[in-house]
Order: sequence, then C-alpha cells, then structure tokens
Amino acid sequence: MPDIAFWNKCNNKCVMCTNEGGFARNGSQHYGLRPQVEKLERWLGGRGQVYLKNDDTRGAVSLTGGEPTIHPDFFRLLAYFRRRLPGHGITLLSNGRRFADAEFARRFLKIAVPPFFVAVPVHSASPALHDKIAGVKGAFAQTLAGLRNLFPGGTGLEIRLVLHKLNIKKLKPLLAFLLDNFPDTRRYRVCAIHYEIEGMSLTNHRRLAIALKESAAALGAALPLVKRFNDFRLYHFPRCLVRPELRPLCRVTLPPEDRVYTAKCRGCRARRGCLGLMAEYYKAFGDGELRRL
Ligand code: SF4
Repeated sequence: MPDIAFWNKCNNKCVMCTNEGGFARNGSQHYGLRPQVEKLERWLGGRGQVYLKNDDTRGAVSLTGGEPTIHPDFFRLLAYFRRRLPGHGITLLSNGRRFADAEFARRFLKIAVPPFFVAVPVHSASPALHDKIAGVKGAFAQTLAGLRNLFPGGTGLEIRLVLHKLNIKKLKPLLAFLLDNFPDTRRYRVCAIHYEIEGMSLTNHRRLAIALKESAAALGAALPLVKRFNDFRLYHFPRCLVRPELRPLCRVTLPPEDRVYTAKCRGCRARRGCLGLMAEYYKAFGDGELRRL
C-alpha cells in the first residue's frame, strides 16, 4: 500500500522514528489540504508516480507523517480520503495522543468507517520509559487515554510494539499490561515489529541496536502471553529466527526492494511467506543469524 505522508510535523520525538530529523523542520506547503487533494486525484487517475513508497499498489493506503492528527485540516482531509477511496483499506499511523480528547476521538470515529484501521504504538508499560522513547513527557498518559477513547468505535485498532534495545527487556510486562488494561482482545490486534534502521533510528542506532535473534528470543520467552491475544502479528521477522509456534504470525509487510534473501535462503522450505531480512538490517548485521529451514 502506498505510504502517504499526511503531515510532516509531529508532536513526539521518537528515538526510533524512521523519518530524517529534517523532515519535520521543512515547510508544510506540500502537505496542506489542496496539495494533498491534488496528489490523491493524480494517483487515482494513474498519472505517473505520485507517492514515494509503494505508489503502484492499489486497494489500500497508509496515512503516515509526521503525526497525521495534528494536520490543521485533519478531519476535512480524512473525510475526503474516506470518500474518494470507497472500499479501500485505510490505515492511519498515529501516536494516539490527540485521541485523548474525547470529542476529537468521537469525530474521528464517525469519519473513519471500515475498512479503516488506526495503528498506535505503545513503547512500554512504564510511563517513564514510554515517554523517554517518545521524547515527550506525558506522552504515555495521553496515548493510553487516546486508546481508551478509540475503543468504543467500529474502526479497527492496532497496537504496535516497536522492539529495540531500550524496551526489549520489558516486553513481558508490556504484554501483561495490555491484557490487564484491554482484556477483550477480540477488539484489537497487536503487531510486534523489529525496529527499522532508517532516519532518526539510524542516527540513534547505538542506543537502539539489537539483533533479530534477541527480539525473537524475547518474543519466544513471552509465548504464553502472546497466545492470549486474539490476533497477534510479527512484522520484519525472518521465519527461521522465531520459535515454530510463532512462525504463522510472521507477515511480509515490506516491498521487495526493502528486503533481501541471502545465499542462506537458497533451498529454504519456509521461503514462501517469509520476509527474509530487511535490507538495512542486512547491511548493519549481515546474515549470520539465518538458518535454512
Ligand atoms: S533462511 Fe531465509 S527464507 Fe528461510 S526462513 Fe530464514 S530468512 Fe526466511
């Protein structure tokens, strides 16, 4: 699905953000209501490449940022996208903080009719650690309040757990926290994501760096908790690095140009449905962890 940068400013400063630091500092003239409408109309009309990532895929779009919900014309633009993409899956990536305002969440849920998902990351069950990763004091409280306000709606909800060195040891308490606070797991899905090495995450890599086998091991150790969720997915994990029970949860979510199969994948029985390695991960860590299945 094309990634559509809805707005380039953000109210968080996440340590593992995949945007370059300069992205939010640029002017916002390309992301206003009119340019966004023009771009979507060009894309719908098939008039050349419009969006940077996955422009040629149809059927679903991903609205990213920056933080889309702080767009000055957020509701007008969202309603326009929903109207012009009937039947298309729309996923809105948000830090969830604006939804702490109950009226804002109510307006959003009215517009975001299915097929529509809002994906919100929770970095830790510890407010202090979540805020440290998000780069803003008080972010945890707002994100949690936002999630609670989103729950009554028919809009799909995805809670994202981006795993890296700063939070990997706290994975079990985070899963237990979600089960305690959002016990009806039929009403949302959880995606555990090995962090991507790009943008600010590359700049901050010494603080974040963790091998796939380490995050896969943490997921394996948390298996009894993982099994209690109705819909749990793993993004960016090669199938050979996770426990056999977790392999069916692995999804291929990146385009072919962003991932690699190495010589170690030759003849692997699990290759179909396996992401391989993220290309940037391969550059940083190599393929020493892989083992053909
Ligand atoms: S060896 Fe390659 S194809 Fe096989 S599971 Fe591992 S990453 Fe996937």
